[in-house]
Amino acid sequence: MKPTLPKSAHPSARSREAGTAPVVDPVAAAGGTAPLLSVRDLVKTFPGRRVLGRPAAPVRAVDGVDFELAAGETLGLVGESGCGKSTTGRMLVRLLEPTAGTVEFDGQDITHLSPRRLRPTRRHLQIIFQDPYASLNPRQTVARIIAEPLLVQGSTAGAARDKAAELLELVGLGAQHLDRHPHQFSGGQAQRIGIARALATGPRLIVADEPVSALDVSVQAQVVNLMERLRHELGLSFLFIAHDLSVVKRVCDRVAVMYLGRIVEIGDKREVYGAPAHPYTRALLSAVPLPDPAAERHRERILLLGDPPSPAAPPSGCSFHPRCPKARDVCRTERPLLDIVGPGARKAACHFPETA
Ligand code: SF4
Repeated sequence: MKPTLPKSAHPSARSREAGTAPVVDPVAAAGGTAPLLSVRDLVKTFPGRRVLGRPAAPVRAVDGVDFELAAGETLGLVGESGCGKSTTGRMLVRLLEPTAGTVEFDGQDITHLSPRRLRPTRRHLQIIFQDPYASLNPRQTVARIIAEPLLVQGSTAGAARDKAAELLELVGLGAQHLDRHPHQFSGGQAQRIGIARALATGPRLIVADEPVSALDVSVQAQVVNLMERLRHELGLSFLFIAHDLSVVKRVCDRVAVMYLGRIVEIGDKREVYGAPAHPYTRALLSAVPLPDPAAERHRERILLLGDPPSPAAPPSGCSFHPRCPKARDVCRTERPLLDIVGPGARKAACHFPETA
């Protein structure tokens, strides 16, 4: 069944405030099954830093994010540093409390559940962090690190240790490492331990927050291969947060591009990478090196002007307009809605999207 959100003929029709528009469910549109994760108009605001003793404007780090994720699917979340992608990921696993909006997991609204009521769901919702050393307690053994989430869920110490040994095998290390400490491992091995810990409770969805960007290039591929294997063997879903678009292209089914706290384009990766609709996506992809040297020499690079604006003082209208090579007058005054472009379920927040 095709999505039914009407396409807007005029820019002004695409400029309603985010969160007020009907949201097409790409999962339901594709197959009619309920999504595993539904995120609606998610907002996170941080207090601004005081300047000369005066309170500064609050920082809207995430500014109305909507998306869905199907069981077994991997969605890539990309964008420049500070665009709000890690903050979004942390809200999904409740490491950060949303300022507004909702997070539904498997049909249950978990946005404001107390820690006690969240516990049964928490085991299905885990996170892998960017820096494996910072995320592993240096004073604990590997056995303890991996067993901890199981103990929290009520496992006995013996059962949790047996499971930790099993998980170390699963991630390509061995049970002989159980009594070692994190500093005795390389970065790639430490990230495998972080993955084993995330798998301990049998999760259905893992938020992977820049899981390979702190690793040497030589081991990035090994960890990515491991995550792909685990995804297929265990039927996992991933929200894969990254700034490396080559990695995202390889591991994800769909991709969402964030800019200044909002998703500006989301869709199947073949559509987004093959013919990006939003000027920001086009600029990001134009900077990704091509494997063919001849194609690389002749490609057109789109250089963005300046740095991203501060989320404490976002530009009016389309927040990308100060850097956009296609900006027109309407872009400075009317905020574009994330809306369907083209024949599929892909969406972009632009008054003048490329639709080729
Ligand atoms: Fe924003 Fe550029 Fe699209 Fe205008 S053309 S809405 S400035 S992305």
